[in-house]
Amino acid sequence: MTSTEATTFDRDHLWHPYTSTIDPLPTYMVDHCEGCEIVLEDGTRLIDGMASWWCEIHGYNNPRLNAAAERQLRKMSHVMFGGLTHRPAVELGRMLLEMAPPSMNNVFFADSGSVATEVAMKMAVQAAISRHGGDHRRTNFATIRSGYHGDTWNAMSVCDPVTGMHGAFGSALPVRYFAPAPQIAFGAEWDPADFEPMEKLLRDHCGELAGVILEPIVQGAGGMRFYHPQYLRELRRVCNELGIYLIFDEIATGFWRTGRCFAWEHAGVEPDIMMVGKGLTGGYMTLSAVLTTRDVADTISRGEAGVIMHGPTFMANPLACAVALESLTMLREQNMAPRIAHIEAELRRLLAPAADFPSVADVRVLGAIGVVEMKEPVNVGEFQKECVSRGIWVRPFGKNVYVMPPYIITDEQLKTLVEATLDIIR
Ligand SMILES: *Cc1c(COP(=O)(O)O)cnc(C)c1O
Repeated sequence: MTSTEATTFDRDHLWHPYTSTIDPLPTYMVDHCEGCEIVLEDGTRLIDGMASWWCEIHGYNNPRLNAAAERQLRKMSHVMFGGLTHRPAVELGRMLLEMAPPSMNNVFFADSGSVATEVAMKMAVQAAISRHGGDHRRTNFATIRSGYHGDTWNAMSVCDPVTGMHGAFGSALPVRYFAPAPQIAFGAEWDPADFEPMEKLLRDHCGELAGVILEPIVQGAGGMRFYHPQYLRELRRVCNELGIYLIFDEIATGFWRTGRCFAWEHAGVEPDIMMVGKGLTGGYMTLSAVLTTRDVADTISRGEAGVIMHGPTFMANPLACAVALESLTMLREQNMAPRIAHIEAELRRLLAPAADFPSVADVRVLGAIGVVEMKEPVNVGEFQKECVSRGIWVRPFGKNVYVMPPYIITDEQLKTLVEATLDIIR
């Protein structure tokens, strides 16, 4: 196949994320990637500002992650997890629990972030019914607007009802309770009024609620918003009082992206259930995990079914677990807090000029996340053409142009990435 034939086949037959078959966005043929760079077939090198959708934290083609995959490949790339277990799963589970909130005790390995959301919601429902003496009414969920939890059925139902997919799926989706998105920004002065609508919602509907699900501190794909940690402290207090499980979706925020190992640490409140994914395998393959407390796990096991009702074919895939274990080992060996603090300071400095652009509504930075919110929605196809011609890779959504680079990015690469991004915005 010539390069043109390959591109044509791709356009005519392959679906890409959220694209039209009638009017597809352009795609660029990648040959390979190394470190912080994506190399196209025509030799163009792009500095990656997306970390392949938040995942590629150690950079591409990492020698240690490659070696971990190769070692495991020679033993087994997969074996069923029903009745069998293996060292990669055991050691990864142990390391995850060491990094997670202290109250976490049980780990469920799942296939992707969206599936982790499904599993977390199933856990909450099973535990809530069991905890409330078989009360089958406590099966619904509350959340906040501007959230994103994945693309599967239940995950969609708790995504933002406007920017999410509620319009397209209408009455097919379960109906959830939505509180307004928190308005007080991270770092701003707390105002108790910000939590009042959620508190009222929970008090009015607690008899129907299994859990509250939300992304702690950073709302990612639903709007790139950073909110006040006090919101989570208030939420924990009310959930405890009303017997509602608190679920933190740390799929995007986990593994140092926000400047802490996990975002709950900004607030110091622990969830009952939490999901991790994205950066878990250092961006090598899909794997997620749902962590919960001994209490939730045992409450599920004392319930009607007596077991957790989920068990995917590729559960705890050894190849993915082995790479994830190496990725987490690397995070623990490196001194991540100053590394991310440095990226954060550089992002603040480099993005600052954008605050004066007439087309820009807001500029904000937290950890290794830099966001430029525009006044108008951005044309992704046009924007990406400009990126490729400047040797960078950034994919905006809605009004948000953001960078979220691999942690190994050099100062020089970061400067090129941000300056080119601002140049396009200007
Ligand atoms: C990406 C994301 C998901 C979904 O993960 P997938 O692996 O794409 O299914 C869920 N929650 C959050 C917060 C995410 O950012």
